[in-house]
Amino acid sequence: STFQGDERIEALHAQILERNPGEREFHQAVGEVLETLAPVLRQRPEFVEARLIERICEPERQIIFRVPWTDDAGDIHVNRGFRVEFNSALGPYKGGLRFHPTVNLGIVKFLGFEQIFKNALTGLSIGGGKGGSDFDPKGRSDAEVMRFCQSFMTELYRHLGEHTDVPAGDIGVGGREIGYLFGQYRRITNRYEAGVLTGKGTAWGGSQVRTEATGYGVVLFTAEMLRARGRSLEGLRVAVSGSGNVALYAIEKAQQLGATVVTCSDSGGYVVDEKGIDLDLLKQIKEIERGRVADYAERRGGDARYVTTGGVWDVPCDVALPCATQNELTGEDAATLVRNGVIAVAEGANMPTTPEGVRVLQEAGVAFGPGKAANAGGVATSALEMQQNAARESWSFSRTETRLAEVMRDIHDACVQTAERYGRPGDYVVGANIAGFERVAEAMLAQGVI
Ligand code: GLU
Repeated sequence: STFQGDERIEALHAQILERNPGEREFHQAVGEVLETLAPVLRQRPEFVEARLIERICEPERQIIFRVPWTDDAGDIHVNRGFRVEFNSALGPYKGGLRFHPTVNLGIVKFLGFEQIFKNALTGLSIGGGKGGSDFDPKGRSDAEVMRFCQSFMTELYRHLGEHTDVPAGDIGVGGREIGYLFGQYRRITNRYEAGVLTGKGTAWGGSQVRTEATGYGVVLFTAEMLRARGRSLEGLRVAVSGSGNVALYAIEKAQQLGATVVTCSDSGGYVVDEKGIDLDLLKQIKEIERGRVADYAERRGGDARYVTTGGVWDVPCDVALPCATQNELTGEDAATLVRNGVIAVAEGANMPTTPEGVRVLQEAGVAFGPGKAANAGGVATSALEMQQNAARESWSFSRTETRLAEVMRDIHDACVQTAERYGRPGDYVVGANIAGFERVAEAMLAQGVI
């Protein structure tokens, strides 16, 4: 389903893999973008001459640092912190922080690389970056998380600034963590620089809708893909994976638009709830008690089941929304979904579908919305938060949600139009990659060799 076979692109790809040994997810993310760019490079030789691919694949700056902290028992731990400042051609580096034991440089680079194109697609003035730590927040007290965040920011603050680098949340980093990080930044710098972090509480500089934005955006994007095929979400059966911030608000918006969401999951297993997920109960367990989806099945009763064999994609559905983590939907899962009649898949997580999974879905004619487009609502609303901070304004929920819906519609339409322009109608992967790349490439070309 790609433009593979272009020799120049393949040589560049090989060169980038060799330069970044062992970074599996980064290789995957680069490969998925490069294999769609051949027609752009054929049309724009000046992009090749300016070595834009080589430059875009090399982060502007990579920061790796020690994060020491003391647990509640008085034992000292040492974690590793990362911030990859990937590209600032369109604005300050922008992208989340991930706290998860699997975090390493290759993961942060894959996420930062995706973020460049995603952020470009929003049409707003934000560059691309990502950061995080291999810290595992699971089972840690509030006090431990606070001390970790303070130590993390004690090093990171020198690299940040509202015009320089603006982190936000990702897996393992939500409103609580952003609060602790902002507090430490403010204390160290003696500046109330609201625009240095996004995802802040609405009482102290945060934006309405930021919490909901990624999940809402995924569903709004899905609704646009369905609309383009003369359909809607009303009455459809939706399978969601994950039970974090993205999954919860994808479930909420899908329900608002008349769909029945029958699944959610975490690393231990998944829930099937044929009557539709009880979102109040799930929020209580996940957001307030910081519990597991197994508790949901138990407390929900009725025929809600908790399943630990197979995977969530075994559950028949019309729409699948992978909202957990990278590579959670494989070629085999995609084949199962197709066999069960899926019509649309949109990525709430970053790169949750393997390349084989994407191929299987697209060849079967399933509407496939890649994360760069489908989950861009989160970072787009972060840009709206920065805009409000800069103007010392705070917008209402409905004004902000209206802006989010406009941005998601514009991204959808840009993908459709770009895919059409390059002779790949309906291919949102090609549309998203090329539309995002073109905007970054034009800015880099105009700004010279930097
Ligand atoms: N972590 C989110 C993403 O993957 C949001 C980043 C942000 O708001 O800066 O896009």
